[in-house]
Amino acid sequence: MKKKYDLIIVGAGPAGLAAGIAAKEKNNIDILILEKQDEIGKRIRGETFKYDKELESKILYPGFFTEITINKTNKYRFYSPTTKNVVAIEAPQERHIIDWHKLMEGLVKKGKDSGIDIKPKHEVTDLLFKNGIYEGVTIFDGSKTFQLQSDLLILADGCENPLINKYGIQTPKENCPILKIIAENVKLDGNVIELFFSSGEDIPPGILSIFPRSETAAEANYVIFVGSLKESLQKDIKYWWDKISVETPVFSNRFKNSEVQYFDTSFLPFGGPLKDNIIPKARILLVGDNAGNNEPTGGSGLMTTMSMGYEIGQIASEIVQSSNIDESFLNESRKQLIKRIRKTATYRTLKDLARIAVDIRKAFFQVLVTPEKIDNSWDTLIGPTLQNAAEFF
Ligand SMILES: Cc1cc2nc3c(=O)[nH]c(=O)nc-3n(C[C@H](O)[C@H](O)[C@H](O)COP(=O)(O)OP(=O)(O)OC[C@H]3O[C@@H](n4cnc5c(N)ncnc54)[C@H](O)[C@@H]3O)c2cc1C
Repeated sequence: MKKKYDLIIVGAGPAGLAAGIAAKEKNNIDILILEKQDEIGKRIRGETFKYDKELESKILYPGFFTEITINKTNKYRFYSPTTKNVVAIEAPQERHIIDWHKLMEGLVKKGKDSGIDIKPKHEVTDLLFKNGIYEGVTIFDGSKTFQLQSDLLILADGCENPLINKYGIQTPKENCPILKIIAENVKLDGNVIELFFSSGEDIPPGILSIFPRSETAAEANYVIFVGSLKESLQKDIKYWWDKISVETPVFSNRFKNSEVQYFDTSFLPFGGPLKDNIIPKARILLVGDNAGNNEPTGGSGLMTTMSMGYEIGQIASEIVQSSNIDESFLNESRKQLIKRIRKTATYRTLKDLARIAVDIRKAFFQVLVTPEKIDNSWDTLIGPTLQNAAEFF
């Protein structure tokens, strides 16, 4: 490892790796990506997305997303909280259910092949500043602590515990707990994505989703919207999963005799994107979940964080190549970045999704708060809200 790099990236998730690949592609600069886990991609996160051909070619190679696809479907079933009402919808585009480990392996291989240093088991514990300007990072590699410097820093450290919060800069606050399960011997009913709304006086507002991996294997996610959570409901997500997965008809049938292969609790950002991703004074860029580059209904963070990672990586590379990285230069880059991001299809999708997410959350979790009220309004809800949502989910 060198003592000084052009660019250090904290976090080898989809955003950090995409940013590194893009930065290296733009200019042949020295890049180091630091990851605190002992294996990259150890904790499985998103495993479904809509195919994005342009992004695939930009950060990997044509056909890669197809290679890592386990299953795909455009069929959705939405259940009301009592599961008495159900609606089946076909979306215009198929959703791919992919293998997360293969996605991460592909990104790491592409990064390493292009000459990026990628170091697992290297946790960044502190950022170093001189006169308020970023200079380097403190790293713990499991046995020793040491420091490295770089001209520029990209923080792509996810939303669980963003480093930048330690230095008084707030990232989006509404990070909702999410639980992920991969199970076999699940009693699925066709190749359909199923979505269940949890809601009620004594049940927190949230969404349970089932994605079929094969005829009998599935991935399930359960996310609770903390923003509207009453104090009496503020229990661990596992508590609610145990309750709902037993008490919710249809849903409980699916998992009754299943064998759980993977189980993890984590967070999803729902607070919307940061106003911008550059902190010019500090010479730091943020990208991915830590910057809220995730769509607010959940379920599209992979494409949006990789797409934003790509844009930020390219800009970072241009900044590093400039001989004079001062605050005014970074302010100018910030303007360029904002313009560039607004032109991307991802940004436009994020904006549309934000609108739909507001409708969904308002309808289900603020206006019609009881399962009975939702049941009684189901016919109205499935029109404007769910039909629109299915096009994006
Ligand atoms: C359970 C779950 C299910 C999801 N389902 C979907 C889905 O179906 N479809 C979809 O598109 N999106 C989904 N998402 C969202 C998607 O996975 C995320 O938006 C995406 O992973 C964000 O990428 P990221 O690189 O910003 O952050 P992360 O993937 O969180 O990566 C951040 C990385 O930084 C590392 N790190 C953190 N702190 C440090 C440090 N101090 N030093 C070094 N390394 C550090 C972490 O270990 C991690 O590897 C899901 C997320 C979760 C949690």
